[in-house]
Amino acid sequence: MQRKKQINSPKVERMTSASHPIKNSFGVKSSCKELVAIESESTLSELWASRVFEGPVIVLGGGYNIIPPTFFDGIVVTSAMTSISHKSDRNGSSLITVEAGLPWDDFVGYTVQHSYTGLENLSLIPGTVGAAPINNIGAYGAEISEHVESVHCFNTKTGKFETFNNGDCKFSYRNSVFKERPELFIISVTFNLKKENADKPSITTTSKELARAALLALSAIRVKKHPKLKLTISFDKIRDFLNIRSVPAKAKRHIVKAIRRKTLNDPRIIGNSGCFFKCPIISSQKLEELKSKFPDIEYFDHPPSEKKISACWLIRSTGFAGNTFQGVACDINRPVVLLNVENASAETVFHHALSIKDAVKDKFGITLEEEVTLFTQ
Ligand SMILES: Cc1cc2nc3c(=O)[nH]c(=O)nc-3n(C[C@H](O)[C@H](O)[C@H](O)COP(=O)(O)OP(=O)(O)OC[C@H]3O[C@@H](n4cnc5c(N)ncnc54)[C@H](O)[C@@H]3O)c2cc1C
Repeated sequence: MQRKKQINSPKVERMTSASHPIKNSFGVKSSCKELVAIESESTLSELWASRVFEGPVIVLGGGYNIIPPTFFDGIVVTSAMTSISHKSDRNGSSLITVEAGLPWDDFVGYTVQHSYTGLENLSLIPGTVGAAPINNIGAYGAEISEHVESVHCFNTKTGKFETFNNGDCKFSYRNSVFKERPELFIISVTFNLKKENADKPSITTTSKELARAALLALSAIRVKKHPKLKLTISFDKIRDFLNIRSVPAKAKRHIVKAIRRKTLNDPRIIGNSGCFFKCPIISSQKLEELKSKFPDIEYFDHPPSEKKISACWLIRSTGFAGNTFQGVACDINRPVVLLNVENASAETVFHHALSIKDAVKDKFGITLEEEVTLFTQ
């Protein structure tokens, strides 16, 4: 039976149980020996002093981007800290510090509500603020790296607090220094955000931009005739639309939320963890070689000079789209999203992911890298 006990400080909640569930949006059955929810910064030092972090530790947020092990013989630590504080204002910008446990979209909603701009394209990405720097979350041409001032952490191995400025975070496409440093517990993230009217464009620019925005919005919607009549959305056009300064952040947020609700698999309905793999980045030269064999290869520019290959295209081209293996399927429309169609276990997910990687490697010589964190034990 689950046991709840308090140690050292009234601000620390430790739950010990032989089978305390680890929440995950993929919906695999998973449990751990112990779960700790941190409610204040100082309690991390207290836990370290009482040697709680000496064994295996996993730091978790909302569980939207992980495949946890069936049983983790260690301690799972989450943040229950959710405050938002404004540190300073300068030239229409503010430094806003947000604690790790706050749901990411609550924070985006807060910034838009308070007329800050910059994060609205990242509306409705599931998860917590603390997890956002790990993968440098991004959508519609925006990434949080553009707005992170610093990340404040607790090192569970040394017991020391460490603060990383933007450069130290080594952000890149769905990557950061934190991916290689699982011992760091992110306590809070400080964002540098501009007020919406900080560098207001002239009325002429505004009306031109709004006219362009209206045209882009209209041209983004296409009617597809085959196999049957249906509406599709051009993501390139939506991205261009979202880049137009004069479109208010509130409007952008509404549009992003509407598109995401329409196009993404809701984990409450079918288990998934978003994109399972990253789009591989290759040199222009490698792309030319591939194009000679596979002329229909789908890719995007990855500035300054590389190319990003569509992981969906790679997986579709190896025949996995829509196929199911022991309860795990590749989504038929976006095969980079793996779905838990029927009681998949962590082991079957790992196995299926490996089969996909092997097939892509064999056919294209490209190694797919996971976007999700796989915890094996
Ligand atoms: C339907 C769906 C759509 C998605 N869309 C997008 C998208 O558009 N763009 C995008 O970038 N991602 C997307 N994702 C992925 C996911 O939303 C993000 O990766 C998100 O940041 C995960 O947050 P989380 O709190 O659930 O993290 P978790 O899944 O709990 O953890 C993810 C990783 O972060 C680490 N971590 C979590 N919290 C902390 C902390 N406080 N300190 C240190 N490490 C920590 C964990 O150890 C793990 O390695 C999507 C996922 C789903 C299910």
